Amino acid sequence: MRNIMVTGGAGFIGSHTCVELLQNGYDICVVDNFSNSSPAALDAVRTITGRDFPSYCCDLLEEEKLGQIFEEQQIDAVIHFAGLKAVGESVQKPVLYYHNNVTGTLNLLRQMELHGVRRLVFSSSATVYGENNPIPYREDMPTGQTTNPYGTTKAMIEQILQDLCKSDSRWNTMLLRYFNPIGAHPSGLIGENPNGIPNNLMPYIMRVAQGALPYLNVFGNDYPTRDGTGVRDYIHVCDLAVGHGKALDALFAQEGASIYNLGTGHGSSVLEVVKTFEQESGVPVPYQFAPRRAGDLPEYYADAAKAQQELGWQARYTLADMCRDSWNFIRKQGAAEKKAGDSE
Ligand code: NAD
Ligand code: UDP
Repeated sequence: MRNIMVTGGAGFIGSHTCVELLQNGYDICVVDNFSNSSPAALDAVRTITGRDFPSYCCDLLEEEKLGQIFEEQQIDAVIHFAGLKAVGESVQKPVLYYHNNVTGTLNLLRQMELHGVRRLVFSSSATVYGENNPIPYREDMPTGQTTNPYGTTKAMIEQILQDLCKSDSRWNTMLLRYFNPIGAHPSGLIGENPNGIPNNLMPYIMRVAQGALPYLNVFGNDYPTRDGTGVRDYIHVCDLAVGHGKALDALFAQEGASIYNLGTGHGSSVLEVVKTFEQESGVPVPYQFAPRRAGDLPEYYADAAKAQQELGWQARYTLADMCRDSWNFIRKQGAAEKKAGDSE
């Protein structure tokens, strides 16, 4: 059985991918510093799959410790999710973001090379397409015109991985550009619930639906889109996880660096997301229009043809599925927290 190291495996996308890999018959080993997650997510992965696996609390910045994990484990490939991802925070703390994301990746690549592991799947983002490309975004469009340090770390790491593959034909990498992942595993045991006031749309809608925040600010209603609000390509995190399974299978058969969009190919506006959520949950989401958010683009979505043709992967879940599963996770989590509080 192939053994896959999953960095950032306790996080939102990582935990769903761990489920998919375990269910596909891969062995895994998780490396996470739990800076934005908790070991409880890994226990939930074990519960969902009925399989156990090793996990290490390790920061990618601790290169020696990382090296010890490669000594202990026979790794065949790495899926690299670990990174900081808050756009606004990256503008405030660029050094933290460059160090964590870029230095962390360089440490990982050095240890992979030292231990003869030269297959890597990297979590990139649609943000690398920047401001100047026409929609839908295609993998062969120019990248690098990023608008914030977070996006620049993704563009830099993409460049590093492509240079590495050019320099040594033994290296195989896959750069996956995610669009907007939302939703949760249908079990409701893993999902996304950020600390503090959320920045992203779906977690914010959840807080309003829970009554923890009074209303949603819809950033901009004068964009040149069908209802004036911003349009994005929302994708169910379980579809994304399946995409990683397909990417990994292909990684063992390919040579060099390849790039795939993981999106649905279809955009939804903020108001469409709100309406769909209300229909699925039966809970109203009050909103008010607010000024455009700095740095936001009016509309973008993926051209999803390449992943379909070459990986045989296509998103299956609808926006209604995504809203239902996000809400199911939040409700279950609230119930579990209440139960824990009652028994204290
Ligand atoms: P997440 O924050 O839930 O998961 C990231 C995980 O990495 C967390 O468990 C965190 O504790 C861990 N981590 C961070 N820095 C680390 C370090 N130095 N060493 C070890 N572990 C570390 O985020 P996510 O939404 O699951 O995103 C996963 C990846 O996908 C990230 O690289 C992110 O930039 C990328 N991505 C996410 C989105 C999105 O909207 N969620 C979109 C595009 C790309
Ligand atoms: N958005 C919004 N209110 C919020 C959060 C987001 O109107 O509280 C909008 C945002 O302007 C964008 C869309 O929702 O048009 C998706 O934003 P998100 O931050 O989730 O993802 P992004 O595409 O910016 O990475």
